[in-house]
Amino acid sequence: MGHALDYLKDELVELETNGLLLHPRTMQGPTGARATFDGREVINLASNNYLGLSNHPRMNRAAEEAAERFGAGTGAVRTIAGQMQMHLDLEERFAAFKHADAALLFQSGFTANAGTVAAILGPDDVIVSDRLNHASIIDGARLSKAEIKVFEHRDPADAERLLTETAKPGRRQLLITDGVFSMDGDIAPLADLVEVAERRDAIMMIDDAHASGVLGTGGAGTVDHFGLHGRVDIQVGTLSKAIGVLGGFIAGPPHLIEWLQNRGRPYLFSTSPPPPVVAACIEALEIIRDEPDRLERLWSNTRFLKDGLHELGFDTGGSETPITPVITGDETATQTFARRLFEEGVFCPAIVYPTVAKGRARVRTIVTADHTPEDLEEALAVFDRVGKELGLLG
Ligand SMILES: *Cc1c(COP(=O)(O)O)cnc(C)c1O
Repeated sequence: MGHALDYLKDELVELETNGLLLHPRTMQGPTGARATFDGREVINLASNNYLGLSNHPRMNRAAEEAAERFGAGTGAVRTIAGQMQMHLDLEERFAAFKHADAALLFQSGFTANAGTVAAILGPDDVIVSDRLNHASIIDGARLSKAEIKVFEHRDPADAERLLTETAKPGRRQLLITDGVFSMDGDIAPLADLVEVAERRDAIMMIDDAHASGVLGTGGAGTVDHFGLHGRVDIQVGTLSKAIGVLGGFIAGPPHLIEWLQNRGRPYLFSTSPPPPVVAACIEALEIIRDEPDRLERLWSNTRFLKDGLHELGFDTGGSETPITPVITGDETATQTFARRLFEEGVFCPAIVYPTVAKGRARVRTIVTADHTPEDLEEALAVFDRVGKELGLLG
């Protein structure tokens, strides 16, 4: 049995030899500003729990109550027998949160992206995509069978060149970018990209996974941050990061949403999000409104940690958001760096090739609203100590 799969053993050995085999740490207890991984309590700079909502008492209570009243699961896909009023309520609230006309809930940001790109384009069309766009965009592009053209990172002129070169009568073109890039924390030049899309008559789509709840007034996202309401056709959001739970969203015009309700394959062929998840997401949007200080703390913590790392002498790249990379360059040194930081009480992952370019290895830090000044001062002291120990600082 299983001999036909033996080649996977060789592949795994190869991954291990190249230091690319993943060994995720295991959390004991909930996520938070401090959390316990592999039996050790550390300052957690690894999560996407930007606003500290994942374990917020109001969220936990909303999930509990929904489980009591509506059960743990829905029992079917939306279009068969799995739609509850709370799914519609969440969609209405998310559309309002995004200042969009309508919104559609997916099981994750990944399926929202992949399902949407695949549903709106076909083999005759073209997708013009930033070099650093997320894997779910790339998968959706492949599923659509459209031609895929990659523009240089944050380069609207290159995007325009590709749109011009691939234009043909009757051919649809999609210009797509992440709002905030997950490995560098830089922001897409959305105003310029929107102008390019308008000039070239292309569909403009933004994946705001790391910007929803983080950028813009009230966390409305990148479109709001740049004041581009009404000029971006499709906004993708996730409920898995700042919103603190799990799920994905498409926000846009009603005819897009209705099309996805009929042709979006993850929506049609995968069971709807369970009541505790949906109820907690609804509660999250309320908390974001009721506790605006969370967003303020996220940004003051961001400035504090970023400035601190910079002053210590680390290369923090071009980040403008709560994602701050500490770029060390060398792959092996970065792995050692991450391991020593963890041993000294700070958890942030090593990100190496192929996730980032060779020679651009880094540990990635993400602060949350829940980190206290003491947490961040302690984290900076550890960075200083370990950085000096490993010769990463002058
Ligand atoms: C995390 C992420 C996703 C996937 O979102 P999930 O809800 O976790 O599936 C999609 N796009 C980007 C840019 C992301 O960072």
